[in-house]
This record gives sequence, C-alpha cells and structure tokens, in this order.
Amino acid sequence: MNTKILVVALFCSLLTFGQKNNTLNDLNSKKDFYSTIAQKIWGYAEMGYQEEKSAALLEQTLSNEGFRIKKGVAGMPTAFIAEYGTGKPIIAILGEFDALPGLSQEAIPEKKSAHKAAGHACGHHLFGTASVAASIEVKNWLKTNNIKGTIRFYGCPAEEGGSGKVYLVREGLFDDVDAVLHWHPNSVNEANAGASLANKSAKFRFYGVSAHAAISPEKGRSALDAVEAMDMMVNMMREHIPQEARIHYVITDGGKAPNVVPDFAEVYYYARHNNRNTVIEIFDRIVNAAKGAALGTGTTMDYEMIGGTHELLPNLTLQELMYKNLVKVGGITYTDEEKIFADKIAKTLGLKKANLETAKIVQPYKSKGKPFGSTDVGDISFTVPTAGMSSATWVPGTPAHSWQAVAAGGTNIGYKGMMVAAKTISLTAIDLFLDNSIIEKAKKEFYIKRGEDFKYIPLLGDRPPALDYRR
Ligand SMILES: [Zn+2]
Repeated sequence: MNTKILVVALFCSLLTFGQKNNTLNDLNSKKDFYSTIAQKIWGYAEMGYQEEKSAALLEQTLSNEGFRIKKGVAGMPTAFIAEYGTGKPIIAILGEFDALPGLSQEAIPEKKSAHKAAGHACGHHLFGTASVAASIEVKNWLKTNNIKGTIRFYGCPAEEGGSGKVYLVREGLFDDVDAVLHWHPNSVNEANAGASLANKSAKFRFYGVSAHAAISPEKGRSALDAVEAMDMMVNMMREHIPQEARIHYVITDGGKAPNVVPDFAEVYYYARHNNRNTVIEIFDRIVNAAKGAALGTGTTMDYEMIGGTHELLPNLTLQELMYKNLVKVGGITYTDEEKIFADKIAKTLGLKKANLETAKIVQPYKSKGKPFGSTDVGDISFTVPTAGMSSATWVPGTPAHSWQAVAAGGTNIGYKGMMVAAKTISLTAIDLFLDNSIIEKAKKEFYIKRGEDFKYIPLLGDRPPALDYRR
C-alpha cells in the first residue's frame, strides 16, 4: 500500500469512527424519549394480534421521522412495514410488541398484579422500541452521510404463539431484503449464533353428546373423555420420540359442570424439536392420537393449526459482526437504587444477591447455541441472512415469562438494556451499509447452509392469520 492510499484509508476509518460515535451519542441523548415509548407499550400490555395501540404508537414514531408506512400487511391489522431510503442494500430490523396472558405485574420487586389481562413478561415492549430507535438512528445516518440504500422496520405482531412473522414470510414480504437484524430481552448481554426449536401447535376440538350425567349417562358421549384419551396416548408416545423433542398441552375447555356430559372439549397442543421434519412427524402422530381418541369415545374431532415455525438458521458472518458491535457498546451498570431493586428480585428467585457483574459484561462469543424455545424469526432466517443479539433488560437470573421479567422491564433497568440493543443494531446496520462485501459473504454462507434443494413450506400451512387465538 503506498502512503497516499494509506492516508486515505486512515482518514476513512477515522471518519467512520466519528460517525459511529455520533450515532452512539445521539442514542444516549434520546434515552428518555424511547423509555417513555417503551413504558407506554408496557402499560398497554396488549396480547397477540390485539396490539392496536402499541403498533399505532410505533407507526407514528416512525412516520414522524419520515418513514413510509404500510399498515395491516399480510392480513394482520397490527403488522406493518416502515421504510426509509431507496435502492439496495435493503437492511431490515425486526420489532415485536405483544404481551403474555395472565402475567400482569406492577413495576415493583414483589409479586403484585397490575390488574390487566396480560403483562410484558418477554420484554417485547423493549424489543419493539429499541428496534424503532435503531431504525431511526440508521435513517439519520443515511441522510446525514448521503448514503444510498433502504432501512426497513418490520412491525411483527403475535410472536407469542401467533407466528406473526410466518405470514410476512409467506406473503413474500422479505424477498427483496439483504440482511435481517433482531434482538431479544434477556438477563445477560450476548450475541451468540442462536438456535431454536421448530414447532407446530394446534387446537384439537372434540364434539360429543350431552346428557344428564346421573339419570341418562348412557345417552351421552363425553368430549372430555376424548381429550383425556388423546392426552393419555400422547403421554405414552413420549417414550417413543427423540428425547430432545418437547410436547406440551393445556385443556382449554373441559366442559362446564360435572353433572352434564360435556358435548364439547378442546385441548391446545405444541410439538417442538430442533429439526422441523421431526416436528412434522411428531405432530402427525399427535393427530392420529386425536383420531383414535374420537373413534374410541364415539365423538368427532377436528383441529385448527395455530402456529408453526422453522428452527433458526444462524448466519455466522452477520453474527460475528453483531458480537463485535455489542462488545463495543458494552453492558449496563446499576445505580444504588436499582441494586436494591435487583437484590429484592433476586431473593424471590431463590438467590442470595443479584449477580450484577453479568449485566456489565458481554458473554464470550459462541458459534453454536443450545436450542431452547421457538421463535418465528426462524422462518425469516430461512429466507434472508439473519442475526440477533440480546441484552440484560432483566435482573440477572430472571427467567423469561415470569412476573420478575415484567417488573424489571417496566423500570429503568429494562430501558438501559433496551438502549444497548438499539446501539448494537444501529452500528451493525451501518457496517452493512458501509461494506457490501459483508452482505455478499453472508449470502454465500446462507445459500450453502440452507441447501440447494431448499423450498420454503410454512409449517402452519395455508391458514389465514389466527387473529382470534387469544380471544
Ligand atoms: Zn419473546
């Protein structure tokens, strides 16, 4: 390299360094603004496909910043796409905003319901807000530096069991995207190559004949018997499926009164495994158990597919970049007041003290994750190279879907973690706009991993979005 080129290269990297510092400073100055938005969505606590106020607030925030908004995409009233800029590359950031039923909780370190139908026990109010913050920040950077390309925010409803993103993928709404970035609230900071379980879920409905349970039971055919027979068969089946598989169910309707033979009963099932083909096989066997149960109890059965997601396809090229930026951003520190809150939460989790060191650091990078739950990001990751990260929005040691997660998520602890995510995703998107070779490398990896003969088949089939699955 001659001296002239070296000087130009050095100047460019200094310039980029300065631009990125501006981005971080700008996000620091907007922490209160975004915290207020997250707090509002935390308060709305709207469940899957009912997130009208949450989606409207995020749409408005993006539209105020000059984003073009497409509302109600893929047949889901609370799904939307917000876009800024023109041409390639198209970098997408995902945001979620649905809450979980039965987990209403105040922002205090003791269990106390906020008397709402749901609570943000998975931190999706932070998820949606940080991703909006990052999209706006990247837009500002594109505008200031006159950079060509498109930043796109996907407002993704009903992640918790509704598989909202699957409908977006099925509709082809990701087909022109070059890279997808996302994150998730957590009790640690990490940007590991994620792994998740593919899943299929359905509600099985049995129809019998009602009769007086004492005077004329012989005239009745119990739909609840059918549910119990089905559950019995599926529970026996557990011994004969791959041991990493997961099956769970709840009886959502078991009749109304013991002295009436129930003529209707419903059971809601999930099947999961880290390979979608195994999930399909297990699910088909569950359907057979339902058919057998109906036959044996003299009832009839039908079922409705509710959800279905692919496992995650990690992209190490993007993941390593995300990790590098997370390290640059770093974790969070607690104030004295927050430490007291954290210790109180830790006690309710059976811990002596909260280990706040883990919120401060970034976990060492792992290129292979252990699959835990399921996410509808899986389907996106089989469509576009995708990378994710998570940050400490909950007191270390807090499991997701707990009242402790709702509590911390409604405080400054949650908002601090949220800003870590907003910063990391902003820097990663900027890197992708600056260096097209990263996207090329990520795509090469993506096509090899996905396999030549890959064809996208949604696990939930061709059903329309299950808009009433929480009603
Ligand atoms: Zn979640």
